[in-house]
Amino acid sequence: MLNLHKSASAMAEAKNYFPGGVNSPVRSYANMGGNPPFIAKAQGSKIYDIDGNEYIDYVGSWGPMILGHAHPAVVQAVQEAAARGMSYGAPTLGETELAKLIRLAYPAMEMMRFVNSGTESTMSALRAARGFTGREKIIKFAGCYHGHSDSLLVNAGSGLATFGVPSSPGVTKGTAADTLTLPYNDANAVEKICAAEGENIAALIVEPVAGNMGLVLPRQGYLRFLRDITKKYGIILIFDEVMCGFRVALGGAQAAYGIKPDLTCLGKVIGGGVPMAAYGGRQEIMQKIAPLGPVYQAGTLSGNPLAMAAGIATLQVLTAEPEEGRADYSRELTLKTKELVLGWQEAAKEAKVAVQVRHAGSMFGLFFSEHEIWNYEDAAAADQEKFKIWFKAMLEQGIYLAPSQFETLFISTAHSREDIEKTIAAGREAFAAVRAAG
Ligand SMILES: *Cc1c(COP(=O)(O)O)cnc(C)c1O
Repeated sequence: MLNLHKSASAMAEAKNYFPGGVNSPVRSYANMGGNPPFIAKAQGSKIYDIDGNEYIDYVGSWGPMILGHAHPAVVQAVQEAAARGMSYGAPTLGETELAKLIRLAYPAMEMMRFVNSGTESTMSALRAARGFTGREKIIKFAGCYHGHSDSLLVNAGSGLATFGVPSSPGVTKGTAADTLTLPYNDANAVEKICAAEGENIAALIVEPVAGNMGLVLPRQGYLRFLRDITKKYGIILIFDEVMCGFRVALGGAQAAYGIKPDLTCLGKVIGGGVPMAAYGGRQEIMQKIAPLGPVYQAGTLSGNPLAMAAGIATLQVLTAEPEEGRADYSRELTLKTKELVLGWQEAAKEAKVAVQVRHAGSMFGLFFSEHEIWNYEDAAAADQEKFKIWFKAMLEQGIYLAPSQFETLFISTAHSREDIEKTIAAGREAFAAVRAAG
């Protein structure tokens, strides 16, 4: 049995200070039972808790750690930056350097603005879209997560063309009324709402590869459809690539699927583990942002030197020419991910446990379901009890996964062949445990 005594007492104390003992809800393991390991340090593909347990990490801080933990180039860049001062609140060369690296991979981001979190980036992109179009409503999709700003914490009301309803207390009905929530991967639903009130809609925001209801891929032609219909109605198409950016491909889903959105949100990977995000896109939209234009948006710590240093170092490694005889980072990550996913698939089959395993670049996920998963309704119908058994069996074997079936898992460049093999073997045991539980 995994010894988590120190973590358990650390959690008991933390609960006196933080709601649920944590500073972001999913960390609490509330749905899995038991306490989360408290983390002491991490290195490469491994993460270590205060009880001295070692795990192979597939959470990767929920996406950012694409080079693994404490990558020497990133650590050095941040240490050097820290010695020059933590923050100036004034322009620096590092900001332009990072923007150049981002725009090379995301040419649709003609102009951009750096912010401090994915939440801020989507919130600001929506404001830009509303400011540009002079319209107020937005379309989003059930199961897509775009951070926790008020207008994005909204569920579908009853009936397609009705107002949205707040999905959290504290969000006003007025705010929710402007957010229309539709099912993912359903072209009909978008067509209907656009026909009814397309000229009132400022923006359509989407995770082009959805990672916040578990990993759900767009159906063939779906993203092209969204591009075409938004163009037809003058709606700003926002790709929220905060998670899938640099993961699905170097140039994100927009490169992988060949779609040019009007605005793009990035986060996670571009800060290399330091708080940092960005939004950007068509010049004529971004020129509406203050001080150039009237749409206000600001940040005391935006473009922070430590974040710039970590982001530049990370993107430099990702975009470097591969060494002789090696695939580029993106291909290498994809191959590793595929190997793991195929290994789990086979192990599940042997154990006679029905699963849906998917991957996109270095993102992957697993649902306990006999049916393909294309939207939130499908995902929500997957077997939560089986997932719980699986999750615990994996943790016991030193495999650190996200404590929810509605999360995506990530591989880093630091994960070795041996890590993958161990993880497949652990999966075999865990599927057997699921099977044994009936
Ligand atoms: C993580 C995430 C966000 C929110 O980013 P934070 O930095 O947690 O605020 C927004 N959109 C997507 C797609 C995400 O995965």
